[in-house]
Amino acid sequence: MKGHTSYGIGGPALGLFYPSGERDLSAILVLSRKKSIPVFFAGSGSNLLVSDDGFDGFVISLAKTFKTLEINGGDIYAECGVMMGHFVKKCVGAELTGVESLIGVPGTLGGAIRMNAGAYGREISNFLTELKVMTLDGDVKQVRRDEVQFGYRHSSLRDDEIVISARFKFEKGTTEEIQQLKSKASQSRKSTQPLRFRSAGSVFKNPPEKAAGQLIDQAGLKGTRVGGAEISEKHANFFVNHGDASSEDVAELIRLTRRTVKEQFNIELELEIKTLGFSEGAFDA
Ligand SMILES: Cc1cc2nc3c(=O)[nH]c(=O)nc-3n(C[C@H](O)[C@H](O)[C@H](O)COP(=O)(O)OP(=O)(O)OC[C@H]3O[C@@H](n4cnc5c(N)ncnc54)[C@H](O)[C@@H]3O)c2cc1C
Repeated sequence: MKGHTSYGIGGPALGLFYPSGERDLSAILVLSRKKSIPVFFAGSGSNLLVSDDGFDGFVISLAKTFKTLEINGGDIYAECGVMMGHFVKKCVGAELTGVESLIGVPGTLGGAIRMNAGAYGREISNFLTELKVMTLDGDVKQVRRDEVQFGYRHSSLRDDEIVISARFKFEKGTTEEIQQLKSKASQSRKSTQPLRFRSAGSVFKNPPEKAAGQLIDQAGLKGTRVGGAEISEKHANFFVNHGDASSEDVAELIRLTRRTVKEQFNIELELEIKTLGFSEGAFDA
């Protein structure tokens, strides 16, 4: 999986599938079920740490095939393999306001919806009206926005359902304002994040009224290195891969950070990144 995550880390999966369409996806799910093979739905792996031992199951991604994007006034229909960068650019091009500050969030629309990706005060769920999901039986169902709970980097979407497409409603904005918000977000990202190195973005969620990066910095952990992994000097909530990091290096940094922040501030940091193929308790302080 190291070739399929932004971290560039991870052992093999039993299989990696890019289904060509809904029928194909349904067939893979039915087969997995029949053979009792676990499945994991991935987007482009930009929020994902895969264990060095890999994953004894099928990884299914829509990132290469589910690419339809249709704009009709303020209404957008998009399949979940559309990349967020493309989605934002299309919205901006159509003078639709709402997600311009999400420019620079890597990954697919599916991953963004599942994670309720957000930046600079806006979240993808703010503009969502409807989702289409497929269950492990290969059945498709429509889900209204109000049937799903969205919170900070959280949705109530289940691990055993894959989101295949979504509908959004946006307002018209002015080109000037949209461009301004977009450039501000883009510049801020470049000046605060270690974008030269491989990472999965923020490792931990911000605890209430605190910034995880600030706590890690105040705990004196910036620059701490285990093997090829390092707590970034530029943004302490980004753990970067210097090229040869193992997932165990990152896991050790996670445990160390949790332990230190708990000792110093009595705060338990919760993981924002998703993990695959680890044993239970692998990240416990
Ligand atoms: C440099 C950098 C900057 C980042 N900045 C931000 C930021 O500002 N804001 C932010 O919110 N995130 C940020 N991230 C994290 C990441 O980009 C987002 O979480 C992104 O939405 C993940 O999308 P993905 O397609 O890569 O999902 P993956 O990492 O592949 O998967 C993430 C989760 O979504 C699930 N998933 C993926 N696709 C589907 C689907 N179709 N149906 C159901 N579940 C699915 C997976 O099972 C997993 O649980 C950043 C990451 C990096 C590397």
